[in-house]
Amino acid sequence: MRVEEALRSINSKDVEFIQRMVSVEYDSKTQFPLKFLYQRQKYRVTKILGSFKGDLSTEDIAFLVKTDDGNIYLLDLHFLDSSGCNSPPQGFWILRLRILRDDELMFFYRGERKMLVNMQLKKVVDFHGHLCPDLVIGCRASELALKTLSPKGEANNSLVVIAENKTSALDAIQNITGCTVGNGRLIVRDYGKHKYTFVTNHHDRALKISLKERYINAGEKYLGLEEKIIRNEATIDEVALFQVLLDERVKMLLLPKHDELFDVVETKKEFPRADVSTVFSRCSLCGDLTLRSRLLDMNGMFICKPCFDRMRREFFTPRPKYSSYNN
Ligand SMILES: [Zn+2]
Ligand SMILES: [Zn+2]
Repeated sequence: MRVEEALRSINSKDVEFIQRMVSVEYDSKTQFPLKFLYQRQKYRVTKILGSFKGDLSTEDIAFLVKTDDGNIYLLDLHFLDSSGCNSPPQGFWILRLRILRDDELMFFYRGERKMLVNMQLKKVVDFHGHLCPDLVIGCRASELALKTLSPKGEANNSLVVIAENKTSALDAIQNITGCTVGNGRLIVRDYGKHKYTFVTNHHDRALKISLKERYINAGEKYLGLEEKIIRNEATIDEVALFQVLLDERVKMLLLPKHDELFDVVETKKEFPRADVSTVFSRCSLCGDLTLRSRLLDMNGMFICKPCFDRMRREFFTPRPKYSSYNN
């Protein structure tokens, strides 16, 4: 069971609530639980699936663990308030819950969730490692482009994709179209936009696909939780809730027809200029040998991109004045 699957279960209450104090063998070096005793039976932790901020005090930690009996448990480490004395904080462990296994659930529960994923998407998810909204966007844009540009499903070795972001969508494009960064048929321009251009020699066509505005931003609740998770400040319940919102967003991107999801403009083929040259020249500033087509011309001085960025930063950012010290 993947972590996301476990988090979904917590929110849909596919769990056995335990809420018992248990004794835990704890590795003080790694700060992870090793074993716990519950109903006179020892459970060995075989994998830590995640650790989260606890919900009672700021020091509390919740561990999602897999044990040697094949189950997933949630263990809470609570600290007693130790204010006023210098002794190390005293803590106790609560075994909060066990996540029900697939074979314990009514079959339609997870069945319904798995229905969400069509075969094409399943292949892409396996490649990428998880199901996420950007992956769905890339998947659907690629499907639409292939359906339009190669309606009979003919192999399209001339296809070139220009993606204007650097998100999980790229993995879907690479997996579905076969256009990769390595073979030069996927060009990534990291402008932070959900825009994709598919160009083909086949019928001299180009398709500009952009995600419609109303699908670009997720809801406020989603964005707020995402921010909290990025800052490592989310409790497991918040992470589990985020998983639900994430599923909803994925569903929202999977359900509409292609023309409801995307704005599509067909233009004449205009092929991006391919970098055929493999000549390397020296950057005038740092001296690194750099692909000539990647050097930037600054009034006749050829410099590499990092040097260009550094120059621009120095030019535009006023530097704080430091007093000098003699060491
Ligand atoms: Zn992703
Ligand atoms: Zn340089």
